[in-house]
Amino acid sequence: MENGDVPEDANEHCPGTLSESAGKADACEGCPNQQACATAPKGPDPDLVAIAERMATVKHKILVLSGKGGVGKSTFSAQLSFALAALDFQVGLLDIDICGPSIPKMLGLEGQDIHQSNLGWSPVYVESNLGVMSIGFMLPNPDEAVIWRGPRKNGLIKQFLKDVYWGELDVLVVDAPPGTSDEHISIVQCLQATGLDGAIIVTTPQQVSLIDVRKEVSFCKKVGVPVLGVVENMSGLAQPLSDFRFAKITETGEQNDVTEWALQYMRDKAPELLNLIALSEVFDSSGGGAAKMCREMGVPFLGKVPLDPQLCRAAEEGRSCFVDQRCTASAPALKSIIEKLLQNQGLSQMAKENGA
Ligand code: SF4
Repeated sequence: MENGDVPEDANEHCPGTLSESAGKADACEGCPNQQACATAPKGPDPDLVAIAERMATVKHKILVLSGKGGVGKSTFSAQLSFALAALDFQVGLLDIDICGPSIPKMLGLEGQDIHQSNLGWSPVYVESNLGVMSIGFMLPNPDEAVIWRGPRKNGLIKQFLKDVYWGELDVLVVDAPPGTSDEHISIVQCLQATGLDGAIIVTTPQQVSLIDVRKEVSFCKKVGVPVLGVVENMSGLAQPLSDFRFAKITETGEQNDVTEWALQYMRDKAPELLNLIALSEVFDSSGGGAAKMCREMGVPFLGKVPLDPQLCRAAEEGRSCFVDQRCTASAPALKSIIEKLLQNQGLSQMAKENGA
């Protein structure tokens, strides 16, 4: 829980020095500040007041969560932000995945620096209506691990919310780290006071991922964050047949590349095959996948996005998947998910007014 300044030497799950349970919570046991915290007078957290003031110019705030790492949450956040900006919304993307900030790369902003003005930290802009803030901009070396304990991470999240000058925003997309840790509780508490629309949860169809997503959904229910919907990512491999490589396996197990021969054969004998999208199940979804889990837990299912090598490439190169025809397998799926989200959030009218 985040409530008040957290000293550097605080225990890991410090409830905040200004919280009612400061110095008395189980997490305070053995902390050098225990007596001072237990007896200090309590009042409203001045940081929360500052955050509420800063966020007053942000109309909608959407958290993007996942139960596990590696399910494509940041790719989704990045493409959601690109799509909203293309609809002429004023968009901010805040990356609070402090230990693994991948948003700068996915937005094509690696190596950029944050500038400070008298209004606060300025986001880095991809376009005039898409600003990005991430700890990735502050790391001298992208290979360097950020090994911070909970209180320090929470302090930085608060600082991001308090000190970044976004200006007028239609939507702030917040890319959170995987799981349900201190950072999540911290950001939820800070944003709830300012009107948080809710959370989108990204998963893959595997049972192991869905188990964690169930925990994420219960976390949202417990802390009062509406689940805007669940996205099933990497839902089967899908790409045009013409993008595949073909191989013959020799008796000794080696792969002989026969791509040219196979493509030429298709061009000669059945050229219409080359326009097909080939699909293959990667993860076992016989358990019903995210759609079934959503029905059972009573939360909206937003749709499936296939594992598309072209989308992975767009993320690696920091590009939007919507601007050209390369992501034929994934861009339409993402578009329909985003349209559903806009409709559910009452944003589709705003998109129409923007001329989209
Ligand atoms: S006693 Fe320690 S852990 Fe508890 S609120 Fe104070 S600083 Fe945080």
